[in-house]
Amino acid sequence: MPRYLVTGGAGFVGSHIVAALCDRGDEVVIFDNLSTGHRAAVPAGVRLIEADLASQQAVDDALADGKWDAVLHFAALSLVGDSMRTPLYYLQANIGNGLRLIDACIRNGVPRFILSSTAALFGMPDRTPIDELARIDPGNPYGESKLVLERALFWADQIHGLRSAVLRYFNAAGSDPDGRLGEDHRPETHLVPLAIDAAMGRRPPLQVFGTDYPTPDGTCIRDYVHVSDLATAHLAALDQLDDRSVTYNLGSANGHSVLDVLRSVERVGGRPVPHTMAPRRPGDPPVLVAASGKITAETGWQPRFAALDDIVATAWRWREAHPHGYC
Ligand code: UDP
Repeated sequence: MPRYLVTGGAGFVGSHIVAALCDRGDEVVIFDNLSTGHRAAVPAGVRLIEADLASQQAVDDALADGKWDAVLHFAALSLVGDSMRTPLYYLQANIGNGLRLIDACIRNGVPRFILSSTAALFGMPDRTPIDELARIDPGNPYGESKLVLERALFWADQIHGLRSAVLRYFNAAGSDPDGRLGEDHRPETHLVPLAIDAAMGRRPPLQVFGTDYPTPDGTCIRDYVHVSDLATAHLAALDQLDDRSVTYNLGSANGHSVLDVLRSVERVGGRPVPHTMAPRRPGDPPVLVAASGKITAETGWQPRFAALDDIVATAWRWREAHPHGYC
């Protein structure tokens, strides 16, 4: 049975990948410090190593504990806005932890590695939708930290033969269609859960960050991709890695403005989303939309949830059933 170590497997994206691996019968061990992940997101029967990637000893112990078919790395600081306030902290944590993990994989003979990367690599893209050949120029330290790890994986492949899949997500949203998992960040900063909570009256009105972008309605455009579609993309990518490394941009190829998202939440929930207009959030590019044709051509992957309302509906159902999140 294939055996995988998943860092950040108790977090939002990581937990959905863990569920997908478990659903197909693979063995999974989660490595997570639970700083943002949730114990309740760890499925019954899955071992949790509650430890920090900053600890060389903890990383070495985990990697030396038996044979691994791959390591999937999700554990990272991931907020663009925070990274603009504390850039050195972001760079040090994400790069330091990622390099420590990659190095330990090489020393312990792990053959395959999956990196959770980001559309934040592309900064202000010169064309859209963004394919894998687009110019890379991170607009914030979070994106920069992922770029360094992408390059480290390039050299780890060239010199040590560690095969990797770099998966650059655009905006992960939604939640497990079977209702087992959801999105619960503390504090929550992401648009979809904030808009849903505002509509449910659980939060103050949503602030729309920036209304003067060069977009049709003046608000930022993003490509929202269902987190369970990201999970199936990880499975597809894992199965590609026997003889080469790959890099894929993952989105649903549809751009939606912030106001489009609010309207979608209103349609799905049948209630208005109270909101106010606010200044731009530093580090936010105006438009990020993925061209995901490469992974589709090479693996057959297709997003199951292409429509924004379908993505929002799964998120709405989970937040309705879990008014206090995972606790
Ligand atoms: N956004 C917003 N108000 C909020 C949170 C987010 O207007 O309270 C906007 C944000 O500026 C961006 C989009 O929604 O244009 C998606 O932001 P999110 O933080 O969900 O994801 P990111 O694009 O930063 O990965």
